[in-house]
Amino acid sequence: MKVFKFGGASVNSIERVQNVANIIRDYGDESLVIIISAIGKTTNALEKVAEVFYAGNKDEALNLFNVVKQQHLNTAKYLLVTEANACNKHLNDFFTEVEWLLHDKPVRDFDYYYDQIVCVGELLSTSIISHYLKELSIKNNWKDVRDIIKTDNNFRDAGVDWTKTALMLDTMMKAQNENQQIIVTQGFIGCTDDNESTTLGREGSDYSAAIFANLLDAESLTIWKDVEGVMNADPKEFKDAQLIHELSFNEVIEMAYYGAQVIHPKTIKPLQNKGIPLLVKCFLNTSLPGTIISKKQVKNLPPIIVVKDNQVLMQLHSQDFSFVGEAPMAALYKMFAEVKVKPNLIQTGAISVQICLDDRPEKIEQLATTAASIFNVQIEKNLKLLTIRHYTNEVFEKLTEDKKIILTQRTPTTIQVLYSA
Ligand code: ASP
Ligand code: MG
Repeated sequence: MKVFKFGGASVNSIERVQNVANIIRDYGDESLVIIISAIGKTTNALEKVAEVFYAGNKDEALNLFNVVKQQHLNTAKYLLVTEANACNKHLNDFFTEVEWLLHDKPVRDFDYYYDQIVCVGELLSTSIISHYLKELSIKNNWKDVRDIIKTDNNFRDAGVDWTKTALMLDTMMKAQNENQQIIVTQGFIGCTDDNESTTLGREGSDYSAAIFANLLDAESLTIWKDVEGVMNADPKEFKDAQLIHELSFNEVIEMAYYGAQVIHPKTIKPLQNKGIPLLVKCFLNTSLPGTIISKKQVKNLPPIIVVKDNQVLMQLHSQDFSFVGEAPMAALYKMFAEVKVKPNLIQTGAISVQICLDDRPEKIEQLATTAASIFNVQIEKNLKLLTIRHYTNEVFEKLTEDKKIILTQRTPTTIQVLYSA
C-alpha cells in the first residue's frame, strides 16, 4: 500500500488533472490511497465566502460561492462525458449543503462556519477526479474522509482522535472490494462525533496523508509537488539553490521549525513513528528522483538556508537596572504561553532580554503591554531572520556581507542572524 498526496497546484488546470491521472495510471496495479487538496486557490475563495457570510452579507456570500460552483462545474464539463451526470449529481449534493447554510443567519462561532464552508473544496476536487479516473477506466473508490478522520470540535485546528480514526479506517478497509484497489479521498478535513465538519489547519493535507500512511502501515508516502524535491533554499530567492536527494526526519523537523516551507510540520511525526519513508516528487516530471526523507541519518548536507520575513525585535530592560533573574524570566515565559506566541530566538543579557517574534500585530501589542508591567519595552519592526543549518563561514559571510546585523546566535550546527531588511 502506497499513499499519494496531490496538492492544489497539481490539479489547478485541465491539463494538470489529466497529468495526475497519468501518474496514477503509471502505478497501475498497486494499492493506492490518494489524498487530494482543493483545486488551486479554492480554499482561499471559500474562506472569503465564510467571512462575507459571517459579516451578514448573505447575497454576496452566495454570489462568491456561485463563482466557486461554476469553476468546478466547468472543470467537470471539460473532463467528463460518460461520468458527467453522475459527477454533477455528486457535486450538487455539496453545493446544496453549503447553500442551505448560507441562507441561515450565523448564530455560532465563526470558526464553526468556516469549517462547514471551507471543507467543501476538497469534497469537490476529489469528486471530479474520482469520476475522471472512472471515465478513463481506472477503478477507484471515492470516500468521504469525514467518515474516517474523527476529530475534536476545535474548529479550524481540529485535533485528530487517533483511536477512533484507526477504528473507522479499519472497518472501511475490511469492507473494501478486492478489485477496487485505489481509494480517492480528501486531505485537510475531518469530522466530529456530532457529524460537524472540521479542518486540520491550512496546508493540512500533508498531515492527512501522513495519518493514512501511519494507520495503514503504508510502504511509503509520496507528496507530489511542482518543484524538483526539497531544496536547500528557496529557489525564488536563491538562484543557486540545490536539490537535496536525501534527508532525515529530524532534519526536516528542524527545517520546518526554523520556517522552511517544505512540508506541513505535523506530517513528520506519524511517519517517523512507523519508519515510513516520505518521498517528495515532481508531478511535472516524474522521472526526476526527488527527495527521500527517512529515519536514516544523512551526513554532509549542504548549508540549508531559511529566511523568515516580517520579524520583530522586542527588547526588554529591567526597570531598575537590576539583573534579569529567575522571577522576571519565569514571568516572561508565562506571558508567552498566555499570549500564545512562540519566539523565534531569545538572547538574555545581564539587564536585558531580546526576543525575536513573527510580526503578528495584535499579539505583539498584547505581549508588549503585558511585559511593560515588569520591563521597559522597545520594539523594532521590519527585520528578517536568516537561519543557516550546517553553515560554513564562507556561506555565512557571503549571505551577511551587506546586511546590518542586529543579533547573531550560533551553535555548532546552526547559525541565526537577525538583520534589518
Ligand atoms: N486546501 C487546503 C489549503 O489550501 C489544505 C491543503 O491544501 O493542504 O490550505
Ligand atoms: Mg496546498
